[in-house]
Amino acid sequence: MNFADTELVMGILSHQGYELAKNIADANVILLNTCSIRDNAEQKIYNRLDHLKAYKKNNRGTVVGILGCMAERLRKSLIEEEKIVDLVVGPDEYRRLPEFIDSAFGGEKGIGVKLSRTETYDDIIPYREEGLSAWISVMRGCDKFCTFCVVPFTRGRERSRSLESIVAEVKQLSERGFREITLLGQNVNSYIDQGKDFADLLAASAIVNESVRIRFTTSHPQDLSEKLLYVIAQHSNICNYIHLPIQSGSNRILDLMNRTYSIEHYIDLIKHARSIIPSVSFSTDIIAGFPTETNEDHLMTLQVMKEVRYDGAYMFKYSPREGTKAFSMNDDVPGDIKSKRLNDIIELQQKISFEINQQLIGNEEIILIEGSSKKSDDFLAGRTDSNKIVIIPRGNEIFTGDYVKVKINNATSATLFADFVEVINPSKVKVLKTA
Ligand code: SAH
Ligand code: SF4
Repeated sequence: MNFADTELVMGILSHQGYELAKNIADANVILLNTCSIRDNAEQKIYNRLDHLKAYKKNNRGTVVGILGCMAERLRKSLIEEEKIVDLVVGPDEYRRLPEFIDSAFGGEKGIGVKLSRTETYDDIIPYREEGLSAWISVMRGCDKFCTFCVVPFTRGRERSRSLESIVAEVKQLSERGFREITLLGQNVNSYIDQGKDFADLLAASAIVNESVRIRFTTSHPQDLSEKLLYVIAQHSNICNYIHLPIQSGSNRILDLMNRTYSIEHYIDLIKHARSIIPSVSFSTDIIAGFPTETNEDHLMTLQVMKEVRYDGAYMFKYSPREGTKAFSMNDDVPGDIKSKRLNDIIELQQKISFEINQQLIGNEEIILIEGSSKKSDDFLAGRTDSNKIVIIPRGNEIFTGDYVKVKINNATSATLFADFVEVINPSKVKVLKTA
């Protein structure tokens, strides 16, 4: 999401004549786009600021700005405590950035942290380098108020962009040669524009160009509709992949988190999705060590992971965030127990991912080639529609951006290895999914 916001900020600044500096020594302005979701995300920024302190000593004219959620959360105190910071601009005030930067060049520090109920930057064209994958923010903010989460405070109320402008952006990106577009929002299932819901938006985006893969994130389990499941099933280019954060396997903890669904509802949803979308895969988010979490609650989380068998998971230790409801609950799970529980969760997930991937050996999959593999130029890396990385030997007939049919021959918990079968002509593909 921050990646998409950074492109938005660059869109606003490039419109004013700014250009992206290739390295720090060429930059007159240094902007850090920040995340507040957990304490370690903020610590990274403090470390970066420490490095920049030395740099700024020798480059006094350089403007340093903090954007995003930390700006929104810490506001004035960032400027007071971090002397090198010249401007602090929250997620809804990016239109004013050029003005703030001008003032900062004149020696005036600036703070813009008003949240808006309407700002969606609908008319701003994000600055995107050429590439294969692009992100489009379809909505901003969140109204869910999960008790652990800072997002509703740092990004404000939920609001949706117009369907028309999103579809126009999908069209532009497809004409520029992008092959994969991810529609983004904190809770995309709450998307609404003049009576059109997220399923309508997804369908409208999918028909723009059937050779462009469409992904989306994130779905809240309370709001994922049957209509959406059918839309995914009906369109060959909407990936069979749903990120559906569960957070905990204990109904008592889910209630304390204000997640508004039960484990029973969640499991039913997974079953229902599997019955409508053949070979759909799921990933999730899990928090270990939420206040009052007992070993019994923790075992329930492991149990639900075994039941669902996620293809992947993002797993975190609970991190208290000031201002949230959970912050006033006692953070009573000791650090070493949080770490142990997180390790249990990670280990189990790796085991499940490994087993799922082993079962894919012998299967044919269609992958989108993203470029050379990280480890060697002799190999290419691509992704299945279920978002798994596949490594194949480089061949003269295969290029970045191609859809290629491959046969899986080996697998670890994180990577599949495959033999090349054939290149698929994207203008002829009707079936991008390997159902
Ligand atoms: N809107 C998305 C989540 C965005 S935040 C959703 O509701 O699914 C991404 C993930 O960060 C969350 O799903 C949660 O697992 C994790 N997270 C959020 N706040 C956290 C906190 N205070 N401590 C630890 N993990 C947290
Ligand atoms: Fe945070 Fe919950 Fe909103 Fe996700 S749905 S952004 S976890 S408040």
